[in-house]
Amino acid sequence: MRLSALTLRHFRNLCDQDLELPPEGVALIGDNAQGKSNFLEAIYYLETFRSYRGAPDEQLVRFGSDVFRVVGDTASVGAPAGVARVTAAFERKGKRKKVCLDGAEQERLGSALGRLAAVIFSPSDLDLVSGGPKERRRFLDIVLSLNVPGYLGSLQEYRHVLGQRNAALRDALPLSVVQAWDPGLVNSGAEVIAARSHWLQGVSKGFGDYYERVSNDGRARITYESSPDLSAGTSLDAVRDAFRAALVRAGDRDRRMGTTTVGPHRDEVRLALEDANEALDLRDYGSGGQRRTAALALRLVEADTVRDRRGESPLILVDDAFAELDEGRSERVLDLMEATESGQVVLTAPKETDVRLKRQSLARWRIKAGRVAT
Ligand code: ATP
Ligand code: MG
Repeated sequence: MRLSALTLRHFRNLCDQDLELPPEGVALIGDNAQGKSNFLEAIYYLETFRSYRGAPDEQLVRFGSDVFRVVGDTASVGAPAGVARVTAAFERKGKRKKVCLDGAEQERLGSALGRLAAVIFSPSDLDLVSGGPKERRRFLDIVLSLNVPGYLGSLQEYRHVLGQRNAALRDALPLSVVQAWDPGLVNSGAEVIAARSHWLQGVSKGFGDYYERVSNDGRARITYESSPDLSAGTSLDAVRDAFRAALVRAGDRDRRMGTTTVGPHRDEVRLALEDANEALDLRDYGSGGQRRTAALALRLVEADTVRDRRGESPLILVDDAFAELDEGRSERVLDLMEATESGQVVLTAPKETDVRLKRQSLARWRIKAGRVAT
């Protein structure tokens, strides 16, 4: 997957520009606050139609403007000839977002989600490891929505039913009213849990291997901790039974708390260092570099997932991400990426010397006050 052309209009501090990207990618070099992260944000917007930094759309519109627009032409390696054009626009006044594929406006964002396949490595990835369970659930939900057919639908259904059930609990409505939501909650929730745990089982070896290769000492592991007890297995039927039983068991507590206390919205992805006798939670015991390494391993398994699903490498976006790693670790990450990521790469760095990706062919672009010089 690669991006062959990018058009920017009124996006953050970026000047209005029409750029052609080289097939192997580009290194974007510029001082602080010149627009490097904004540039990657604009590209990534074409995949998820939101900011990877969690910024609301209003903030993405250039100060003093009303509408931003980003257009990307994508080309698939080996796919049928022709490019696919993804257009995204947002109007601040009407809070209206518009997404087009090859010029045709999409009624549902979901249908255009993931058309551009990119994986972004950024300094804020550290939050995936250091932050609370919510950060990791969000990561799972994004990766699975983009890569597992049907996941987004199940998740949306689950959130809807959960909202209704919680409202009934909050208002202390009769038990029968609360329980009326349970079959829908169990069905959609079991789909979410099963998809998450299957994915994590599938990537756990890769995660451990990446961690070990980059850290060069010690292993880490990733596991799904489900609030329903999954000891009877993770087939959809088994998960449904487990979730149903957990809801019954939590009945009194849910009514007391006025909210649903079991289900995928309470589940956790555990990241742990493998010690001789015990597993130490990375969030509590990991050093800065160890946590950074685990975050990198998460992004690397995300890239593997895209590759497995699409049969081609995702576009790799790297926002000054290896800054905190020691020399050895950053060398090993770069070697690893060189070996596994055969696709297009767009990376940013404050200084030329920070561009250590050995692909010498990577073009150097400069950015100053939002203007890219190619
Ligand atoms: P660093 O090296 O410090 O990470 P950067 O090059 O990644 O810097 P960006 O995060 O891309 O910098 O931000 C560049 C500038 O964009 C900031 O000074 C910010 O004030 C400005 N900016 C952010 N949003 C908007 C907007 N909506 N309109 C205009 N300018 C904006
Ligand atoms: Mg930045």
